[in-house]
Amino acid sequence: MKMGEIPHGMGLRANPAGGEQAMRIAVVGAGVAGLGSAWLLSRQHNVTLFEAGSYLGGHANTVDVTLDGVTHPVDTGFLVFNRRTYPNLCGLFRELGVPVAKSEMSFAVSLKEPHIEWAGTDLLSLFAQRSNLGRSAFWGMLSDIFRFNRETTLLAREHAAPDISLGEYLDRHNYGEAFRYWYLVPMAAAIWSCPTQQMLAYPVSTFLRFCHNHGLLQIFDRPLWMTVEGGSRAYVQRIAASLPDVRLSSPVLNVERSAGGVSVVSRHGTERFDAIIFACHSDQALRILDGQASQLERAVLGAINYQHNRAVLHTDTRLLPRRERVWAAWNYMAGEGAADRRPVSVSYLLNRLQPTPFKTPLVLSLNPFEEPVADKLIRSFEYEHPVFDQAAIDAQAHLPMLQGRNRTWFCGAWTGYGFHEDGLKSAMDVAAMMGVVAPWRARRLALASTGHVADAQEIAGLQEMSA
Ligand SMILES: Cc1cc2nc3c(=O)[nH]c(=O)nc-3n(C[C@H](O)[C@H](O)[C@H](O)COP(=O)(O)OP(=O)(O)OC[C@H]3O[C@@H](n4cnc5c(N)ncnc54)[C@H](O)[C@@H]3O)c2cc1C
Repeated sequence: MKMGEIPHGMGLRANPAGGEQAMRIAVVGAGVAGLGSAWLLSRQHNVTLFEAGSYLGGHANTVDVTLDGVTHPVDTGFLVFNRRTYPNLCGLFRELGVPVAKSEMSFAVSLKEPHIEWAGTDLLSLFAQRSNLGRSAFWGMLSDIFRFNRETTLLAREHAAPDISLGEYLDRHNYGEAFRYWYLVPMAAAIWSCPTQQMLAYPVSTFLRFCHNHGLLQIFDRPLWMTVEGGSRAYVQRIAASLPDVRLSSPVLNVERSAGGVSVVSRHGTERFDAIIFACHSDQALRILDGQASQLERAVLGAINYQHNRAVLHTDTRLLPRRERVWAAWNYMAGEGAADRRPVSVSYLLNRLQPTPFKTPLVLSLNPFEEPVADKLIRSFEYEHPVFDQAAIDAQAHLPMLQGRNRTWFCGAWTGYGFHEDGLKSAMDVAAMMGVVAPWRARRLALASTGHVADAQEIAGLQEMSA
């Protein structure tokens, strides 16, 4: 069974598509997946949204920062998206009237051993460290970048990538150490927020599919990256304002499923629902289901591991490349040690990623291997990222078999590549299987079936979304 097909034997008492009785639905978790599914389903059903934390948004986490005498919101989790590969997020933002602004997708590498610094912003940043001009390994890296983009674009287009890990692929095709450790692994580890070794173990086919779709295998015609003006809370608040029953600081503790309904235990007591959507991470869902999980649920949800990431918000420029000319929006930093074992971190220069009024550089460092000095530390945050190894990818393929069984549904960024679009798309899929189609998807379907379009703006929007 594929995503989008309605499974049989759901045992639900009403089919909303037929205009029958509205269901009571519990949604567990208020990240983009939980907010998206609650927002869609509350159009036809009575939805209660349970969130364990004290704020809505999960990884969409905006905080107010005061610097240079000004207070302004900045994001500490989800930061950027683009029109090409986030069509549904763009559809949602358009629907909600969320203001967006241009972002910058520049990338810098700063290694301690050997001391190498470069950024792809322009020629000046590429050779800001003059000695790079005379380093044959550096020129080899640049040549490998072109070769890799050329070779793997073909593989991705033709779905011909071999069934091996990224590391094996690089070995097999004789890619140099410099290409591997001064470019590809830093870039990938920064995007997936995971350690070097984990990235090398990533299945090359999935890696290439993602990079190809996101324009990362091309030097030119890359997507234009955007950010939410005023921080991602701007969209979270708009969704929250339309939801009648939102419970903050209310972790779902336990769930009992039976033929007659679902009992949900939280600090509000035990409440009965017709269906439950787990929009938290897969390991959290498994813990809530506890001994209740079916064998298949245990196999699928239990196959996905999570990587803990600490994000530190600060103004300590020691956690940026030494040369200011090299500073980019994303700065991959690595400490001393063997290439595949050295401590690594990513520092986002938020002033470049989001419109801020700050002159002082504001940095979000993921897993900094050096702590910012105390008087430059603003706050720190703890996040978990799914790890997409082969076991996780195999498990994802079985997810559709779980949907709707035992009145239970699952969504979250963990069901895709781990990004915001994946979280929203999985929520839309669950809502569609329960009879509610997202308005922008419904318009696209209507357009396809009738050829009738409301207005020019809609045509432009749809073309943009399907680009
Ligand atoms: C630092 C960082 C930067 C990122 N940058 C980007 C980016 O620029 N672009 C991009 O596309 N993606 C980015 N991502 C990834 C993306 O934001 C996330 O993968 C996505 O937002 C996850 O959404 P989700 O709804 O699946 O999960 P989450 O946002 O994690 O939401 C799950 C929610 O479930 C709640 N919960 C857990 N257990 C329970 C329980 N028992 N009861 C009730 N609630 C519970 C949690 O508190 C949480 O709020 C970034 C992530 C991080 C951490």
